Amino acid sequence: MTTELDPQESVFRKAVGVEVRGGVIVAKRLYARPYRASDKPNLPNVFARIVAGGEKAAEERAVEFVRRYGPIGYVSLWVREHKTPWPAEVPKGDPLAWVLGQARSVRFCARLIESLSNLDARGVVRVLRENLVERSVTELGIQSDDPEVKEQVFSWIEGIKRTDQFVWLGRAANAREKVFAMARQLIVAMVNGNTQGVRPRALRIAPSGRLEPAVVAPTLIENIWWKLGEWALTAEARGERGLVRLCKECGTPFLVTDRRQEFCPGPPGQGSTCGYRYRKRRLRARQKGSGTDGQAEEGEEGPE
Ligand SMILES: [Zn+2]
Repeated sequence: MTTELDPQESVFRKAVGVEVRGGVIVAKRLYARPYRASDKPNLPNVFARIVAGGEKAAEERAVEFVRRYGPIGYVSLWVREHKTPWPAEVPKGDPLAWVLGQARSVRFCARLIESLSNLDARGVVRVLRENLVERSVTELGIQSDDPEVKEQVFSWIEGIKRTDQFVWLGRAANAREKVFAMARQLIVAMVNGNTQGVRPRALRIAPSGRLEPAVVAPTLIENIWWKLGEWALTAEARGERGLVRLCKECGTPFLVTDRRQEFCPGPPGQGSTCGYRYRKRRLRARQKGSGTDGQAEEGEEGPE
């Protein structure tokens, strides 16, 4: 069974009775009322936050994500790829390990976009070192049909593994540009590789009631990757720094919708939970010892 589509747009439903059964996140049923994932520009931020802390918290957050936004699409992707119905004996849902892997890939890609959008070459290298050395290319969701791209990625990884410090950064005249080209190549491979079912539609009616171009993404995970592509496009097209930022509390990248934002955006109509946690921690540090609050703060680190 594939996800049912609105004629204009991909719509999804919140889930009820969500639990992990045999390593798979399953839902009893879905809410009747649909929502449009395309109207949520910070969906990649919410999804990447699943892996912003410890492993156990990550499991709980993955379940919470499915509760709030619905199944992310493993079943639909599997059926599309295998062209056979879902096997009846297998629980129908998103395997937990797959969800966590996707969340890590989205976080990795979002951090590349953040560094690139702020023209931070050292940041790009740091993100690559933290992610590429430990994990395989496939695990990170870097998919490309182009063997040259794959080869290129492997050679970068080898380079990163060999060199402790990127001393060449800032020496060669075009070193920075090379690093940015590398980041762009990876972003393209990851976003395109994970949006195979996304296709443009000529028009849709926007929430404002006016016409605008539309994109149909059949699964929630493809919506998340497509949004990530939009983050990268927004940052490059506008050429402004600071459009994608790292949350001051949990280190997860988010798309800035208000210039003053410093934390992950909260649920609609509510404040940022990261902002709340940050202020609470700062207050506690201040109460502990007046005059040393600055130090106490720095000693205490966020989940990242
Ligand atoms: Zn945050």
